[in-house]
Amino acid sequence: MKSHARVVIVGGGVMGVGLLYHLALEGWTDVVLIEKGELTSGSTWHAAGQCPQFNGSLNISKVHLYGTQLYPQLAKLTGHSISWHPCGGLRLIRTEEEMRWARHVHGISRLAGYEAHIVGPQEIRRIHPYLETFGLKAAFLTLTDGHVAPADVTHAMATGARALGAGICRRTRVTGIRRLDSGEWEVATEAGNVVCEHVVNSAGSYCDVVGSWTGHNVPISNLLHHYVITEPLKELIELERELPVVRDPYSSAYLREEGNGVLVGPYETEGAHECWGGAPPAWNFESELVAPELDRLMPWLEMATERMPLFGQAGIKSVISGAITHTPDGVYLSGPAPGPRNYWMHCGASIGVAQGAGAGKYLAQWMVHGQAEINMREFDPRRFGPWAGRDYTTATAIEDYQHMYYCYCPGEQHPVGRGLRKSSLYEDLARAGAQFAQVFGWERPRWYSADGEAERYSWARSNWFGPVREECRAVRERVGLMDLSTFAKYEVSGAGAGRYLDRICANRLPQKDGGIVLTHLLTADGFIESEITVTRLAPDRYYLLSAAVAQLHDLDQLRNRLGPGEPVRIADVTDDYGVLVLAGPRAREVLGASTALDLGNPAFRWLTAREGTVAGVEGVRLLRVNYVGELGWELHVPMAQMPRVYRALMAAGEPHGIRLFGTYAMNSLRMEKAYRAWGGELTTEVTLVEAGMERFIDFGKEFIGKAATERSRDQGPRTLLAYLEVAVGEEDCLGNEPVYCGEALVGVTTGGAFGFAVGKSLAFAYVDPKLARPGTALTVVVRGEPCRARVIEQPAWDPAKQRLRA
Ligand SMILES: Cc1cc2nc3c(=O)[nH]c(=O)nc-3n(C[C@H](O)[C@H](O)[C@H](O)COP(=O)(O)OP(=O)(O)OC[C@H]3O[C@@H](n4cnc5c(N)ncnc54)[C@H](O)[C@@H]3O)c2cc1C
Repeated sequence: MKSHARVVIVGGGVMGVGLLYHLALEGWTDVVLIEKGELTSGSTWHAAGQCPQFNGSLNISKVHLYGTQLYPQLAKLTGHSISWHPCGGLRLIRTEEEMRWARHVHGISRLAGYEAHIVGPQEIRRIHPYLETFGLKAAFLTLTDGHVAPADVTHAMATGARALGAGICRRTRVTGIRRLDSGEWEVATEAGNVVCEHVVNSAGSYCDVVGSWTGHNVPISNLLHHYVITEPLKELIELERELPVVRDPYSSAYLREEGNGVLVGPYETEGAHECWGGAPPAWNFESELVAPELDRLMPWLEMATERMPLFGQAGIKSVISGAITHTPDGVYLSGPAPGPRNYWMHCGASIGVAQGAGAGKYLAQWMVHGQAEINMREFDPRRFGPWAGRDYTTATAIEDYQHMYYCYCPGEQHPVGRGLRKSSLYEDLARAGAQFAQVFGWERPRWYSADGEAERYSWARSNWFGPVREECRAVRERVGLMDLSTFAKYEVSGAGAGRYLDRICANRLPQKDGGIVLTHLLTADGFIESEITVTRLAPDRYYLLSAAVAQLHDLDQLRNRLGPGEPVRIADVTDDYGVLVLAGPRAREVLGASTALDLGNPAFRWLTAREGTVAGVEGVRLLRVNYVGELGWELHVPMAQMPRVYRALMAAGEPHGIRLFGTYAMNSLRMEKAYRAWGGELTTEVTLVEAGMERFIDFGKEFIGKAATERSRDQGPRTLLAYLEVAVGEEDCLGNEPVYCGEALVGVTTGGAFGFAVGKSLAFAYVDPKLARPGTALTVVVRGEPCRARVIEQPAWDPAKQRLRA
């Protein structure tokens, strides 16, 4: 065992080895992977090996697609033989909502670049003569995916990595990890210690235990999953081609050929549970099965027999039962762990064979180049905070497993694991009909239901549409109030605070106390890492706000940009303040009834802040800024006191027709103002120039990413954000819809909404820069429907900003 390495990867399953191979391909070969048993002796050894392309997320599709492209090439690339079965796949569709989803995914297939078709029941029978088509509307057919022996691809990638110079140390257990004062990591193993710059937790079923050594919370559950394989069947022996892998929501199972028999793997829709009673596996657990529970599976196996009667015609030859890691949202964890640099997560995969190659490729890019070519936000481990504890993780992971073949409509969330973080207004808002969504553990209102009817989730507009129209109307015509306590909030203070923020922010900092600016933190290559609002409280004290989901991500960005010994303190004050957004033409009158502060324009201008007393509550920070484009204030109130301020504002607002509004209305209102959203329009895939945000750059000073931003400006953007009006039917753009100019695919939407005040369905899309000019005619395919679109001037609402400055 060497004593120093650039990178140590803990765990030799398909995820760890996939990363090792791609780090080596990127030129990092001073890497050692340490495995306690043999390679693939964890979950990887018994996986069924399916590699589907069908996926509702563009970024995950890119990960999957890469695997289906690499695996058939691996034998040639590495000399290790591979059993790739390019049999394709059929995802069965039963309901109208599944159909809409399939059409959405079809758009994604165009963007990701794989061939897919939606086929009807007759065609299904032709492609798969042994499938019963009862209850089916259609199927989503993929042609270039299939299945593979997991050990083959893992060993092939290991061979490829070794040939490039990377090291693998088998039969050696990692027993501890600690951070050294030098900032390096010391990895203790049974064969001695290794000091490294980067350490990667790829420990599969043990990743939470390995994480706990350094205080990292790794939200995974090890769930018991089975598949069964029948004896060979004459019909399949005689069949000249291999049947596609079928994914059937009726039996909640995958069904495919294996050794001329039928392989069926159900994701039980109830009764799923953790392995080993929720405890981690024993350290000597290796290439073993977990005790099977065949009786419990019978209802799903019977339904699978109804779907494919051939399955019931042969005896079961083998039962495979093992642990699958599931995260609360079903997406693996890949990226930096929160806290000190260079501890990386690469674990929690529940479809790890399909994902191992792509996940490794993109994490390797991130580690080597500082960022990946795709948006990694979905995989970033920092999307979970300390609130994602054991009970939450188990409940949501089980829910995720049980819904493997369920069609989640936009906005639909797990009903379990809720109520973790609440603002002090939660009960008041619940009584007012708030329909809450969970965001970074918080319960945040999306819209208010007058009759208490919960949201009917759909890909189309549903029962929220009418109430949201009224919420938007209140904000545009009268006054609205929103609880946006979920903001991530930080205080940056100390003698060096101003200099430090000036260095890390692309925009000019506020020059006076009470000044507010919107600004961005960029990568060294000029890509957008974070968006923050900075308020200067004093020359050496700043109040920073960013997106709820970015709380840990942005804290890391702030901390990691701090120079050694820089006299700056960074405090996360998220939970200290609740936030009320009061917005609309009557906001001044309503707020004026509860405070003695002079709210007139000369005393309190747009983009300024002051501290004062509101409704008798002292220490309220009033920021004249909002994301909806109206006269208004954000009131940052000590969390416990918020109900008092809320009630006073609601009472004062009553004669003005005040109305509560939620994030659905906010999204519609911000689209009318063409305000970009972090994670949607603003990602590490684009520069500020490409996002059309040049007015937020101060080229007259130095800042991280400046040279690259100048290059982006001088050489011209590779892509440009266009603002579209789209002639949709009843379904607005959600993001990830393909954009065409004639027959040519020219872009992708990033988000959209119906703008009630302007009477248009609006969307943002990244397109070929030549096509971003107002007046350009384009087509957006919205869930299969080609919709005429036109690039329009930004913004659609109040372009002169008169209302904000009113
Ligand atoms: C029955 C079944 C069917 C499945 N079917 C599919 C499928 O069809 N398609 C698909 O994509 N996925 C499938 N999966 C899921 C897939 O198996 C997993 O997602 C994948 O194997 C996870 O890979 P991994 O590298 O994260 O974990 P693992 O393969 O478990 O690898 C982790 C490794 O880390 C090692 N390790 C842990 N701690 C230490 C330590 N302290 N020191 C050294 N080494 C350590 C372990 O020994 C292990 O080898 C299936 C899973 C099961 C159980």
